[in-house]
Amino acid sequence: MRDSRPYQCESCNRGESIQTRLEQRQCVAGFVFTATLHARECPACRLREIDGASLAQFDLGVARALALSGVVDAEAFRFMRESVGYERDRAAIELGSSPSELAAWEAGLTPLPVGMMNELCRIVLSRTADPLLPHVTARPLARPLPDANLRRHRCA
Ligand SMILES: [Zn+2]
Repeated sequence: MRDSRPYQCESCNRGESIQTRLEQRQCVAGFVFTATLHARECPACRLREIDGASLAQFDLGVARALALSGVVDAEAFRFMRESVGYERDRAAIELGSSPSELAAWEAGLTPLPVGMMNELCRIVLSRTADPLLPHVTARPLARPLPDANLRRHRCA
């Protein structure tokens, strides 16, 4: 459960942070995902920070939205795998594949099989059914960019 006790600011050590809400954005696979998350603001130094647990929940919400989107995409595959906490070895076992195959798909060296994407989506959906996940909205990037790193860069 969420902790509502006063929280000493780690930056200035003067203020007691108060709860607030901040918007978080994440670009993956040609989409921009946004959600409003629990955060803390220090009245003394104005530091505003989303707590780590909320960020992890946000990633799960994004992974779920990706799984529901029907997109077959290497970047989406990697994001979903990491969001549910799977190292490549673990994901390879779950998917009946090998870590080197996964690495090649995620790097775009070999085409990502639709069946593998679907199977990872199934895993993500089963692990993100928590109704307390933040409400994540998705919209397509205005201009699709071919390079995954570039997409990330442009979003920030
Ligand atoms: Zn402070």
